[in-house]
Amino acid sequence: MKTVIYPGSFDPITNGHLDIIQRALKLFDTVIIAVLENNTKKTLFSTEERMALVKACTKGLKVEVETFSGLLVEFAKKKNCNTIIRGLRAVSDFDFEFQMNVINNSINKELETIFLMTSKEYFYLSSSVVKELASKSGDVSEYVPEEVNTALAKKYSERLP
Ligand code: ADP
Repeated sequence: MKTVIYPGSFDPITNGHLDIIQRALKLFDTVIIAVLENNTKKTLFSTEERMALVKACTKGLKVEVETFSGLLVEFAKKKNCNTIIRGLRAVSDFDFEFQMNVINNSINKELETIFLMTSKEYFYLSSSVVKELASKSGDVSEYVPEEVNTALAKKYSERLP
């Protein structure tokens, strides 16, 4: 049984994340989606909301959705899993991921990170871009699953003065 951990903020989950999950499932039996809890970045959606959206959007897929806080290395140890999967888009992703990989590896040499290149249609897609667009009432329906589109519309309508 091959398992991989896919960690991230998922604020919110996008079609780019789903593409990585579906492709990871071709290589692994199960994907543990690890939603980062103690984010230093301020998130639009609470941990519970992010987790609920990930669950709703991955129904029927062989995934487990969990939250984690603290070190990813510790979470991986707790899950008895030595493989991490991450998506790579621009060169800026590479720089950050390279640093993270060096740090994670210095703590646990057994931990391997596998990188999947983004599919070309998701190259420019990020949760930040989706939030930016949705906050200005832009149409994000082609970038996110239906549930996320609805949640974004609700979130930003609540925020209106
Ligand atoms: P983080 O805050 O840890 O970067 P994200 O939720 O933004 O978490 O992303 C989680 C992972 O998914 C990262 O590896 C990121 O590079 C990847 N990812 C996000 N969007 C895309 C996309 N459009 N194509 C490929 N990978 C993506």
